[in-house]
Amino acid sequence: MLKIAIYGKGGIGKSTITSNLSAAFSKLGKRVIQIGCDPKADSTFNLLGGNPVQPVMNYIREFDEDPEQIEDISKIGFGGVLCIETGGPTPGLGCAGRGIIATFSLLEDLGLFERFKPDVVLYDVLGDVVCGGFAAPLRAGYADEVIIVTSGEKMALYAADNINEAVNNFADRSYASVRGIILNRRDIVDEEHKVRSFAAERNLEIIGDVPRNDDITRFEDMGKTVIEGDDSLPISKIFLRIARVLWEHEETGYEE
Ligand code: ATP
Ligand code: MG
Repeated sequence: MLKIAIYGKGGIGKSTITSNLSAAFSKLGKRVIQIGCDPKADSTFNLLGGNPVQPVMNYIREFDEDPEQIEDISKIGFGGVLCIETGGPTPGLGCAGRGIIATFSLLEDLGLFERFKPDVVLYDVLGDVVCGGFAAPLRAGYADEVIIVTSGEKMALYAADNINEAVNNFADRSYASVRGIILNRRDIVDEEHKVRSFAAERNLEIIGDVPRNDDITRFEDMGKTVIEGDDSLPISKIFLRIARVLWEHEETGYEE
């Protein structure tokens, strides 16, 4: 099972990349679960075509009890991807980190992984290193690998550096490690060079290079990934290629 957590600065494109990768893995014939770990609960929008799933923490607030079955807090999206959102506490009250950790153990208690038997689990994580929710997917049994999404912008690279450091600091046998970077371009001057130097200095691989692309926005407006919109587009092929690279790595266990 390939278990990846996607990190990066706020607004950098984590949810876009995660949902397109989920859709791409499904095109490769994989059974996929995408878990949005952000109180905004918008991670899986583009897999669900404008018909969002009720986030776990909202369910618990509304019914004042835990859900009894996975079906209560999941929806099947494009390509059969099982979509889950942790949601968050009432704004201004409670800790999103604690809520996310509690949600993960609830999903385990409901037998999510045994029942659905996924090939791939993608966690779309909120980017803030200081939040307790940051480390939740890194705990044993959840994500094995971390992918950091960044552009060449200074603040995006700054966040990427903090994330890389934090994951390395957590690194003992029970925590995940950084698999590499996905460059999500903002088309700033010298972008490729900046990201390549950043990656080289930290010995990180650039797993994917996603251009700024209008089709992403066009299909997002329809609640779709580009893979669902038109999988023959060049941008769709980029996501399919990244998914293939990640899956081959899973199969061969290849390490640099
Ligand atoms: P947050 O931290 O708020 O969860 P995020 O990192 O998940 O944000 P997204 O919601 O995926 O970021 O992306 C923010 C916006 O940028 C979206 O409207 C998305 O369509 C757009 N976007 C992301 N990547 C690209 C791209 N490569 N080309 C065009 N638009 C993009
Ligand atoms: Mg997001």
